[in-house]
Amino acid sequence: MNERSAGSRAEANFHEKTKLALAQRAAYRCSNPGCGKLTIGPGSGAEDTSSTGTASHIYAAAEGGPRGTGGLSPEQRRHVSNGIWLCASCGRLVDTNDGRRYPVSLLRGWRDLHETRTRLEHSGVAGPGGWINSIEVREDVWLAEPTTVRFSRCNMFIGPNSSGKTLFMTLLSGLSEPSQIMRRAALPDSAVNAVINWYDPQPRTAEISADERGISFVLDGADVPFVAQPYRVLKPSLPLQGHPAGSLTSLASRLGLDPWNARGLLLRTPEIVGGAVKEVAIEGEDGIRAVCSLDGKEFCVRGSEQERLHPIVVLEIAIALAEESARAQPTLLLLDEDLDMMHPRGFRHCRELLSSASRTFQTVAVSHHLGALQDPEWTVTRFEPLDAQEFGASGSLPVRLVQDEDPLETYAALMRRFPPFPEAAGPR
Ligand SMILES: [Zn+2]
Repeated sequence: MNERSAGSRAEANFHEKTKLALAQRAAYRCSNPGCGKLTIGPGSGAEDTSSTGTASHIYAAAEGGPRGTGGLSPEQRRHVSNGIWLCASCGRLVDTNDGRRYPVSLLRGWRDLHETRTRLEHSGVAGPGGWINSIEVREDVWLAEPTTVRFSRCNMFIGPNSSGKTLFMTLLSGLSEPSQIMRRAALPDSAVNAVINWYDPQPRTAEISADERGISFVLDGADVPFVAQPYRVLKPSLPLQGHPAGSLTSLASRLGLDPWNARGLLLRTPEIVGGAVKEVAIEGEDGIRAVCSLDGKEFCVRGSEQERLHPIVVLEIAIALAEESARAQPTLLLLDEDLDMMHPRGFRHCRELLSSASRTFQTVAVSHHLGALQDPEWTVTRFEPLDAQEFGASGSLPVRLVQDEDPLETYAALMRRFPPFPEAAGPR
């Protein structure tokens, strides 16, 4: 175990019950996906056990420790959400050299993947599920330099308008929807080259190369015409006022489901998600009626060909679908500014729902809300437009992707640079 000494370090030490929780949530196995070593077994005496695991801090316990403290309070630093269970040698490894080779986003990804696999195995699902690990963008016209973005369970992309956030999303869904990438790669001087790594549960690597002549894929080192079974990407695109249809049929088609599967999913959503939607009923042939409760206030919403369904209801249905899907294959819920059009209360509710440690799928959300940075559970990737002169005149907007290891400090700095802007009010 890491012995901590005086000062704020002692305050940020894990309590014994937190260490036990971390060990048990990991089923006493090392959370490094490249290791997975068992950390408990019989000891030398007939009644002894031998434990070789360690509860490691993700953000450091003390100022100046590996990976820094991320601006977290001692209480947040000793919280179970800031811990990862590792074997003794991986525990030493991640802290060497100030933890530079093992950033927060990487450790959080390991922890979330391992807990997800353990949860699935524990619930009796054969062939523990998968995980989207990272995407390496080697070439893309909007990007200033090759960049690797790592994913944990909750991921927030944040940055100004037209800084490439939506373009990045097309790379993430590019294996199942290459036409999204071709829509922009077909333009002159717009070549795209990216490598996506995921587990299904075996480690998979797919390289996408696209330019105006076409698109090609290399899967685990072999040329393939397309990637037959990549991870699943769900894009619920929450209803804007311009898209009113909230009927069962239109919801099913938006989620890519047969209407009968959508019906089954809808009825089970309250039970699967445990969110604001308390009860769902199908009205007539194709209508939806949902009873919701948020912050102690109960309300009833309807969806039909003429009435749009409330965004919170659509999001909770999408979460239910993602949960079911993730039991069979790695699943990513993509929310491209969907959360931003919610009322601040709805935004907070949905963010909390997605952050829940019991989620089996991964979320990638694009947001303009700086408030998203206040939640240390989310791995934040910041899209930072560079000064065009600094970069040289290329005609396009060069952007640098920064995976913040200190989201709270970044938030404070951004609030100083920009005046606080009002939160989005009501659905647009
Ligand atoms: Zn290990």
